[in-house]
Amino acid sequence: MQYPEPISKLIEGFMRLPGIGPKTAARLAFYVLDMKEDDVLDFAKALVNAKRNLTYCSVCHHITDTDPCRICDDKARDQTVICVVQESRDVIAMEKMREYLGQYHVLHGAISPMDGVGPEDIYIPDLIKRLQDDTVQEIIIATNPNIEGEATAMYISRLVKPTGIKVTRIAHGLPVGGDLEYADEVTLSKAIEGRREL
Ligand SMILES: [Zn+2]
Repeated sequence: MQYPEPISKLIEGFMRLPGIGPKTAARLAFYVLDMKEDDVLDFAKALVNAKRNLTYCSVCHHITDTDPCRICDDKARDQTVICVVQESRDVIAMEKMREYLGQYHVLHGAISPMDGVGPEDIYIPDLIKRLQDDTVQEIIIATNPNIEGEATAMYISRLVKPTGIKVTRIAHGLPVGGDLEYADEVTLSKAIEGRREL
């Protein structure tokens, strides 16, 4: 059946989001039509503001509304450890745990020759630059426990080890093939505790 154009546009918009097929998109669109106008306006503003006011930290590449981000700017945090993750969502998962108080480095991806993603396509060169002033003593690699995540961990390890900086990989307990962001706080905390040297 044919929807009036404003509704089909809304449905198309929802369908661009991950994991949303035509049925769910239609359901969400009709839900929006039933919402109070003020609530719809707030929601629309939140979407636009998030896009306009967020940027990536020039130091760690975590998503932020200040540059450097609050984590990089927090002098109380340990400056000698950097935890390397694939996505900003992983930083948020780690921060929820409230046990890790070092720095982060967000790669925005993982090495994947199959998809044509090499070390230069993610923020590995930037990570190496951050190690040059002798402040950092340990790198904890917390990339996802799948082929790409492991390949990325090995690559970074090979690059960093000759500098004498300790390189560790978070431990098992994380579901193999899973995403870091879905790990619960206890599992994540155990994974950091049991990290092993690469
Ligand atoms: Zn930062």
